[in-house]
Amino acid sequence: MKGYAMLGIGKTGWIEKERPVCGPLDAILRPIAIAPCTSDVHTVWAGALGERKDMILGHESIGEVVEVGELVRDFKPGDKVIVPAITPDWNTTEAQNGYSMHSGGMLAGWKFSNFKDGVFAEFYHVNDADGNLALLPADMDLRAACMLCDMIPTGLHGVELADVQFGDEVVVIGIGPVGLMSVAGAAIRGASKIYAVGSRPNCVELAKEYGATEIINYRNGAIDEQILKLTDRHGVDKVIIAGGDNSTFAEAVRMLKPGGKIGNVNYLGEGESIAIPRVDWGVGMGHKSINGGLMPGGRLRMEKLASLISTGRLHPEKMVTHEFHGLEGVEQALMLMKEKPRDLIKPIVLL
Ligand code: NDP
Ligand code: ZN
Repeated sequence: MKGYAMLGIGKTGWIEKERPVCGPLDAILRPIAIAPCTSDVHTVWAGALGERKDMILGHESIGEVVEVGELVRDFKPGDKVIVPAITPDWNTTEAQNGYSMHSGGMLAGWKFSNFKDGVFAEFYHVNDADGNLALLPADMDLRAACMLCDMIPTGLHGVELADVQFGDEVVVIGIGPVGLMSVAGAAIRGASKIYAVGSRPNCVELAKEYGATEIINYRNGAIDEQILKLTDRHGVDKVIIAGGDNSTFAEAVRMLKPGGKIGNVNYLGEGESIAIPRVDWGVGMGHKSINGGLMPGGRLRMEKLASLISTGRLHPEKMVTHEFHGLEGVEQALMLMKEKPRDLIKPIVLL
């Protein structure tokens, strides 16, 4: 079968591989929609996970089941399914401990394009099909559905990590597709003010539509200074980080009230360490917590998040700005993700 792969750090291309083999609990799928992710860009061009040779890329896909293992109960060939980017092993102690995304080791629930071939191929393998797949609701728009694989669960996990509560003032740093879902999630969770940080005009427009009450352009000066000025130097209750770089943490700590919480879902692709400003962190006693996490996967999570779309609470299809057709289109879609033209939010490939 054909797949689009990371050939090595900084290099991608088409390769031929054997079709994956289905274990007793597994499923083999063919993609019907796929999307490249900023994480694919970190993986290939920043070498953030280390060397990966001839590994098929991609972890965002809606698929059709073509084969299931003999122990799979709830899915059969022909079913159309949502495939989360994170597919844990549900019988591990990490999963029993509530951290399924780290099943088998840190980040090890992230299998596609990390530990095994991803979804940019004619076929791909899903472990623990009953635990990880969710049926695609019959009337769901494929563009909206494809955002369920990663953009929605990650953006909303940022909201969970920051523990947004009714009436909170929240900053969302970064309004690419992940941060936009954080804005929408913070609004659903009852934030009062949502300051959205970004500069691309169509992201800014969508952030307002999803619930941002104020837009901060990081190109106009330090974000923390802009936020402190707007809040009479009190700062905000919660900060969600979905963009920026290693220095963004220092800004986030500075703009937070004592007792505030940071939820980070940004992928830190470079450097050795993150600096936390000592005094702004209350010389170690400021009750400003920093949480960072990988999105949770699994069937129940997918079904619950899908219901947010079905009931009209979330409109993620508005983030899809570029559409390609056929597996070959994934190459151009990934390059768009790497180059981030100003009019891009999220590209998608329909097969
Ligand atoms: P994008 O590149 O589309 O968006 C990044 C955003 O950050 C943009 O709004 C950009 O602004 C803004 N930004 C850039 N530089 C700065 C800065 N210095 N200060 C403040 N804001 C800045 O990324 P995605 O939305 O696709 O992904 C966001 C992150 O989430 C990535 O790191 C991705 O790898 C990660 N991710 C994490 C997952 C997880 O499970 N934890 C899963 C999926 C993705 P501008 O408008 O100017 O472009
Ligand atoms: Zn992703």
